[in-house]
Formats: sequence, C-alpha cells, structure tokens
Amino acid sequence: MNNKENISILTKEKCCGCHSCYNICPKKAISMVKDSEGFLYPRVSEDKCINCGKCLQSCPGIKLPEVNLFDEAYACYAKREEEHFSSSSGGFFAVLAKEILQENGVICGAAFDDSVKVKHIVTDNVLDLEKIKKTKYVQSTIGQAYSQIKEMLLTRRKVLFSGTPCQVAGLKLYLGQDYDNLVCIDLICHGVPSPEVFARYLLEKGGEHKVTAMSFRNKHPGSRSRTLDYWLDNGEKISESYDESPYIKGFIQNLFVRPSCFQCKYKGIERCSDITIGDFLGVDEFHPGFSDDKGTSAIILHSEKGIQMFEKIKNQLAYVEAASHEVGAWNPCLYKPVDKNSRRKDFFEKWNNKTITEAVLELQVSNKGSNQSTRRVNFLLEKIKRVLYRR
Ligand SMILES: Cc1cc2nc3c(=O)[nH]c(=O)nc-3n(C[C@H](O)[C@H](O)[C@H](O)COP(=O)(O)OP(=O)(O)OC[C@H]3O[C@@H](n4cnc5c(N)ncnc54)[C@H](O)[C@@H]3O)c2cc1C
Repeated sequence: MNNKENISILTKEKCCGCHSCYNICPKKAISMVKDSEGFLYPRVSEDKCINCGKCLQSCPGIKLPEVNLFDEAYACYAKREEEHFSSSSGGFFAVLAKEILQENGVICGAAFDDSVKVKHIVTDNVLDLEKIKKTKYVQSTIGQAYSQIKEMLLTRRKVLFSGTPCQVAGLKLYLGQDYDNLVCIDLICHGVPSPEVFARYLLEKGGEHKVTAMSFRNKHPGSRSRTLDYWLDNGEKISESYDESPYIKGFIQNLFVRPSCFQCKYKGIERCSDITIGDFLGVDEFHPGFSDDKGTSAIILHSEKGIQMFEKIKNQLAYVEAASHEVGAWNPCLYKPVDKNSRRKDFFEKWNNKTITEAVLELQVSNKGSNQSTRRVNFLLEKIKRVLYRR
C-alpha cells in the first residue's frame, strides 16, 4: 500500500522505541519487534490498520510536545541515609516517589523483572519502589505502561512517571492533553544501550550459572569506589569495577546505544517534563563542602508542578540552590546528543561470533590513535569517573 498513514514510515534514526504508537493504536495493529541490534521497533499489521494516523500524531520522533520554560536548579541529596545510600545518585527520585505513594498516588519507572530484563512498571506498592530505584544502563521497555497511566489519571489518582526524556515525550503525546494529577520526571540521558547486548553480557558474566539479579551502581560504606554487582543462582555475588567493565566502556563509547540517541531532540533546559534529574558532576567546584561521598542529585524544575513538588519534600532533602549551567558544565548530555562511534557498525558485526567482552575490547584496541574519538572517549571516561569515584 502506498501513502501509508501509519508509523511504518518512520526511519530507525527517528524511532526512540517509546511504545506510544503501540499504546494508542485503536485496532491493536502495532506490535513491537526486536531488530538485529536488539532494539524494539513498531511493526504494523497492514490488514488491521485503518489509517487513522493516531500513531503518527503520538510519535515523539515526528511531533514535539509542549515544553515548560521554567529553570530552577538545585544540588540535593536525601537526608535519610537509607534513601541516599540505596539510590544511584542523591536519591531525589526515592524521596519524591515516597511522597506520591503517601498521597495514595501511583508511580511508574524502570525496574528489573525476575529475568533481569528492564521494564517500566506502574505500582502503588511501596515495596516496588525498591525495584524502581537505581539506574539501569539499558533501554527500558514501556509495554502498556502509558495505557495503565491514563487509566489511573482518569480515576483522579496522582501519577509520578519517570523515564528518559523521549519516554516522557512519548507519554505526553500519547495522552494528548495536560493532566494536573500527572508529574513527569526525566533523566539527563547519555543514551540507551541495547537490551540484547545487556542480556548477552549477563550470560557471559554468569558463565555456567544464571545471573538472577544485578545492580549497576553500588555504594560501599567507607569506600569511594563504585561497582556493578551480579548475583548468581548458586548464591554467589560477583562485583566488577567501572574501570574494568567492558559493558560500561562500550556504553560510554556509544558502541551499542540506540540509533535515535545520536540525534535526540529532547536535550536542553526547555523540557516537556516537570523535573529533570541527574548526577551533579563537578558539584564540588560550584558548591564546595556541600556533597558527601554518597552522590549528589542535580535537579532542574521546569514547571509550577515541579516547584510545588519540590516545596513539599524539601524538608527531607539537604539542598543548595544552583544554576542549570552548573549542572551542564560537566554533563554535556544535558544539552546535546552523544556522537555516533564510527566503530558502532563493527561492533554489531563482531557480536555475532564473539562475546560482548571480546567485541568491546578489540574495538578499543583498534581505536587507539583515532585522535578525535580518543579525546572524546577520555572526556567521557573522566566524566563517569568523576561521579562514580568522586575524584
Ligand atoms: C541510560 C541512562 C543514561 C544516563 N545518563 C546520564 C548522564 O549522562 N548524566 C547524568 O547526570 N545522569 C544520567 N543518568 C541518570 C543517573 O544515572 C541517575 O539515574 C539519576 O541521577 C537519578 O538518580 P537518583 O538517585 O535520584 O535516582 P535513582 O534511584 O538512582 O534512579 C531511579 C530513577 O531512574 C529511572 N531509570 C532507571 N533506569 C532507567 C532506564 N533504563 N530507563 C528509564 N528510566 C530509568 C527510574 O525510573 C527512576 O526514576 C542516566 C540514566 C540512564 C538510565
């Protein structure tokens, strides 16, 4: 069929995989199908499609939702030791999520499921907050979360959604209208790695055993080092330092982030979320003496709703007023997409007959001498070390 009025016209470079089209299709004509790199893309059953165009109207690769213009930034961390320690950064998300749950609201964010896959869950159970807390450096599957959120919004319950900027944009376009009971948080986002690369890496780490749980960023009492931790089905725990992890190296060198991340439109200070959160890299330069060694959140409030939420919870936070340019000074992902690695294609050729570890390490070696990309890689490594090792 020519003149298609559906999402099949979208190129891979524009599709962020947010599932907005999948959620909105009135005929359930769209399924999300894994490509050869392990990312999900919409596939339309043309025999079911009625050319209503709703998938195109709700696509953040085609449309841009309205943005909020407010810009009020803070460095902060949770005063409660437990919340601070059990979050990747300063724990701002955990404090806000708990507040929403106490107001009989619902939270939606990225969680590991039982097979260590990352999916967005919608929940009002405080025990599930533990699963949503902490960063997962892999693309999270939205599934039917947007539809579930709409149902909750229509029952007038408060909803806190948190995800990547494109996932927030996808939700806003799916909903098609403002809801005063919806609060959206987006992350400062480097880009999202392939779920399939992650799954294969877990198989490698487990060896003869199955990885039953993992955590990307762990804080160790009395130590400044950060690790990735894996728990195996024989009860053993393996730890891996950031410096040594081929997965982290491949991630920050952009060997396996999603193609759309290289031309992400959801950067900058004007955002469609109410609050942006990230790591306050370089906080010591701008606010000496404020941070401890457990991580500091950067937050940027973009809307009246964002400011109201901050006012509600600020007594549970240690905080200092900051400026968004300070947040972005060591965090270029606030402003611009990452560069495509010229060896990305080689990685996805190699991974067919090599392990992820081998593929990453081989490309690293052969990358030496490429001045521009080496400089970029060094900058990124320095960036991640700053936050993870707090140098
Ligand atoms: C792929 C990715 C890239 C990132 N890149 C940067 C960066 O370049 N600079 C920076 O400052 N911060 C980045 N972050 C954010 C950072 O790692 C922390 O998540 C953030 O600082 C929040 O910390 P916290 O302590 O408040 O909450 P935490 O408890 O650490 O984080 C929990 C929150 O993160 C969300 N989340 C976790 N994993 C995912 C995921 N895969 N997809 C969508 N949402 C997720 C959860 O829904 C929840 O809201 C990135 C996060 C991800 C997932």
